Amino acid sequence: MKWHLNLTPVEKWFDPSLHLPLIISGPCSAETKDQMFSTAAALSKIPQVKVFRAGIWKPRTRPDSFEGVGKKGLQWLKEIKKTFGLLTTVEVAKPAHIEACLKHGIDILWIGARTSSNPFSVQELAEALKGVDIPVLVKNPVNPDIDLWIGSFERLNKTGITKLGAIFRGFYPYEKTQLRNIPKWEVAIELKSIFNNLPILCDSSHISGTTEYIQSISQKALDLNFDGLMIESHINPKAALSDAMQQLTPGQLKKLLRTLVFRASSSDNPEFMSLLEQYRIKIDSIDFELLELLSRRMKIVKEIGKYKSLNNVTILQLRRWENIMKTRTDFGEKTGLSLDFIKHLLELVHKESIQIQTEIMNRLKSKPDE
Ligand code: PEP
Ligand code: MN
Repeated sequence: MKWHLNLTPVEKWFDPSLHLPLIISGPCSAETKDQMFSTAAALSKIPQVKVFRAGIWKPRTRPDSFEGVGKKGLQWLKEIKKTFGLLTTVEVAKPAHIEACLKHGIDILWIGARTSSNPFSVQELAEALKGVDIPVLVKNPVNPDIDLWIGSFERLNKTGITKLGAIFRGFYPYEKTQLRNIPKWEVAIELKSIFNNLPILCDSSHISGTTEYIQSISQKALDLNFDGLMIESHINPKAALSDAMQQLTPGQLKKLLRTLVFRASSSDNPEFMSLLEQYRIKIDSIDFELLELLSRRMKIVKEIGKYKSLNNVTILQLRRWENIMKTRTDFGEKTGLSLDFIKHLLELVHKESIQIQTEIMNRLKSKPDE
């Protein structure tokens, strides 16, 4: 399938023009007028921060958590925009959210990870945006389903939204890790290689989950040629009503931004490094897949070993081995691999398979009931 999006470049989204890298910051949630104003006042003094974010309606995992202040937060954002000259952005999950945001002059909308996981919701939002000219950023769905993510851009694009951007916020970790969400960077790279003119920002806060990894995740994203960052900040993170662990004070954010190396994409060397990094990430991912496959193969070998042992059949089956060699080398050569390499690889795999079966047979001989 051929993908296509009709996109307006970031530089043409606003007048005066926004430039890349785009840095968005602000609290996870709008809580009080004072919290919003003091955070925005401090952020407006950081020259790189051009857009102020705040969650107004919060998608919470469990009921009875703080679910956002609702519409009154939009009024605060309207005043913040006027007072500090920052653009504003809010998460929308329902057509009614869009309507309220438009009424309050919100500049950019974003669709959260839970919403982008649901095509019905995205379609409803896209329809609510018919005839509206506003930039929309779409976070990746909770699961690493790139087609679903692309589907959101397509739905929005079909209803006329051309000011589109992606936000990479990592994926739900099925096992506990140091990070809150796993950055499968290869997914972001894949999106970038499909739509090389679709801007992509990294939400380092939601990947990290604590303040500890925000710097390294952000640097990694910049090294991968991301077009910007979304980082949560709160005037008093400890008192935050949502995501307290991962929010930076504006002062911490200022320091963090100073430590980041923003590589100029016009310079030869950093571009080379960035591409090299992209290739390496692909290689890393393929290597892990290879190991996974080899492990699966060896598990089957173990079963065969047991089966042969039960039936009193020898491990080495010469004709089968010759057939493996012939079919795999024929196939492998067609894929462009060298004959020598395939033979070496197969011999290694075969040797290990024999070793595994020998061990199994010896074990079964000493414990015949197993
Ligand atoms: C957020 O940005 O505050 C948020 C709810 O993020 P996500 O949709 O990535 O979970
Ligand atoms: Mn948050």
